[in-house]
Amino acid sequence: MKEQLETLFNKQLALWNLAKQNYKALETVQEKQFTINGNCYKVQFNPARITSSAAKVDAKSIQERPCFLCRQNLSSEQIGLAFEQNYQILVNPFPIFQRHLTVPDKRHTDQRIAGRFIDMLNLADAATDYVIFYNGPHCGASAPDHMHFQAGNKGFLPLEDDWKKQKAEKLGNAAETTIWALNDEPRNTLVLESTNKTEAAKLFETVYEALKVALHTQPQEEPMMNLITWKEGRRWITCLFPRAKHRPSCYLAEGDKNLLISPASVDMGGVFITPLEKDFIKITAEEITTILQEVCIQPDDFQTLKTQLKAWL
Ligand SMILES: [Zn+2]
Repeated sequence: MKEQLETLFNKQLALWNLAKQNYKALETVQEKQFTINGNCYKVQFNPARITSSAAKVDAKSIQERPCFLCRQNLSSEQIGLAFEQNYQILVNPFPIFQRHLTVPDKRHTDQRIAGRFIDMLNLADAATDYVIFYNGPHCGASAPDHMHFQAGNKGFLPLEDDWKKQKAEKLGNAAETTIWALNDEPRNTLVLESTNKTEAAKLFETVYEALKVALHTQPQEEPMMNLITWKEGRRWITCLFPRAKHRPSCYLAEGDKNLLISPASVDMGGVFITPLEKDFIKITAEEITTILQEVCIQPDDFQTLKTQLKAWL
């Protein structure tokens, strides 16, 4: 898979001007960084991400636009690489990572993680140089109507190292899987660490149910979350970020208080994306803290989640 992915990138960067330009632009992208509660958060000024950050994801807007992940609407230059039965791997033409993939289902079907967490672990197993991520339908996915994962090269998200320093509490375990709560406020992260993907997928189902309770989720809805998974040696590491809210109040604020930031997995992993330069210049550690406090699970609900998991695991 490693060589196939490299070939896919080389072909796309040679043939597809939009991708070529946007990956080239990424080489000189501006970044700055802050430390919040011992964790590193970078800020990346990335104008090409405006479409995603400003995406209208209400039901009416979604219904009225052609779905950009359906095969018939892909750019004519775009090449797909099959993954398992249901997915195809595409180069993301609006990258945040030097290597950025989108992995949609072949069918136009809703963004849902139930029953698909194992697919994410399989993808991490196949693409070992990548972190795999999932944005819930109301947590940053710009196509909530078309199931997709994304992947980005390892060595970019501060979270890959930061989580190890923040292990606070073991919430439960099975033979080859442990579930941790991190002490990383204001983010409030759960981690599944496992050497057995079938077992990890089974425990994920329990976590999913506990999230529904803690986040007060309607029965037919998915509990709000972002997920990042990668393989480290024989272990799968999955960081789960329970979410209280889709977009922070600064997203809709008027005047000086406005910041066009729509947090998703990458931001939770420690890289905040600002498509507008004015936001990149003015954003502070305090504002990042406030954004995380608003969109991540509230402290009382995180406590409920931990108590529930300790009872069930
Ligand atoms: Zn579609």
